[in-house]
Amino acid sequence: MYFTDFLFKEIKDILIGNNLSPNRAYQIFNWIYRKFVFDFSEMSDISKKEREFLNENFNILSLELVESINGDDTIKFLFKTKDENFIETVLIIAPKNEDNERLTLCISSQAGCPLDCEFCATGKIGFKRNLSVSEIISQLLLVEKFILLNLKEFKPLGENLRHIGNIVFMGMGEPLLNTENVLKVINILTFSGGYNIGERHITISTAGIIPEIERFLNSQIRLAISLHTPFQEIREQIMPVAKKYKLPELIDAIKYYQNITERRITFEYILINELNDSEKDVIELKKLLSGLKYNLNLINYNPIPQSNFKPLSEEKIKNFTSLLDKHSIPYVLRKSKGSKLYAGCGQLGLLKLKNS
Ligand code: SF4
Repeated sequence: MYFTDFLFKEIKDILIGNNLSPNRAYQIFNWIYRKFVFDFSEMSDISKKEREFLNENFNILSLELVESINGDDTIKFLFKTKDENFIETVLIIAPKNEDNERLTLCISSQAGCPLDCEFCATGKIGFKRNLSVSEIISQLLLVEKFILLNLKEFKPLGENLRHIGNIVFMGMGEPLLNTENVLKVINILTFSGGYNIGERHITISTAGIIPEIERFLNSQIRLAISLHTPFQEIREQIMPVAKKYKLPELIDAIKYYQNITERRITFEYILINELNDSEKDVIELKKLLSGLKYNLNLINYNPIPQSNFKPLSEEKIKNFTSLLDKHSIPYVLRKSKGSKLYAGCGQLGLLKLKNS
């Protein structure tokens, strides 16, 4: 069993069931989720008998860190699962003046992805399997340990000992095809006696798995939608999942979500040359998003060898953003961090391909 598969309450029940003090659960959570100690033998305030029980019954982490590669403002991590699947995680470092919480972790929820978006390297790998709760949490804990040992300039946040300020489920895979595990991960990581990150600091990015959206009506978790075009036909061409979950229904589901939660939605829009960068696109976008509270994030396309799509030139980006200004559509132009490392949006999976 992996300790990181379990909620605090479940661990307490296991301890009680084995005639051990349930209060130990606080201490163990403190060691693992606050001090990033992953060896029960080092947990000095736990009795020898209890440590033996833990060692006999649990492992803590279910991933092995194979490689980390530093870029200017990103570090990419390649992990291996016990059954030899490779997954990638990206640490994004904001400039000093940008944010107090400078570290964001882009985490994977599946090995590969079944959705096969035309612009995405992960989709081209195909689908291997959903990641377990422990495999998702292990990405975060191993990166926290890496920061603790190697990036000493990043002070822990507030009373917490964690370094990472935000978690985004935008790595490999579609999180809403692994919702049960993703929700359990969030439940574990938001526990105040452990990692203690607020739901508002967690974003789930989805290609638009409509029936799963309503599972977030009662939480503070932020939702991001991979939109990329306001036209149903084009969306179907670049995101096959759009054939099943169509744009009008997706927008209706988002409106319902927003009526209940009053939370702003983020739309991701990858800029692809000659595909979604014309005034016609802007006019349709305006119609599609009217009545919604939203952020529109523009990201220039990161080329991958398996696709013929091209990014926009500087001049074309300027032209597109001036069209958005002209039609009063607010946007943020994101610099795609990590594209040289194959750590940019849509590029996860290339590291393994490149190394193999
Ligand atoms: S963009 Fe996201 S949903 Fe689409 S194939 Fe890539 S990982 Fe899957």
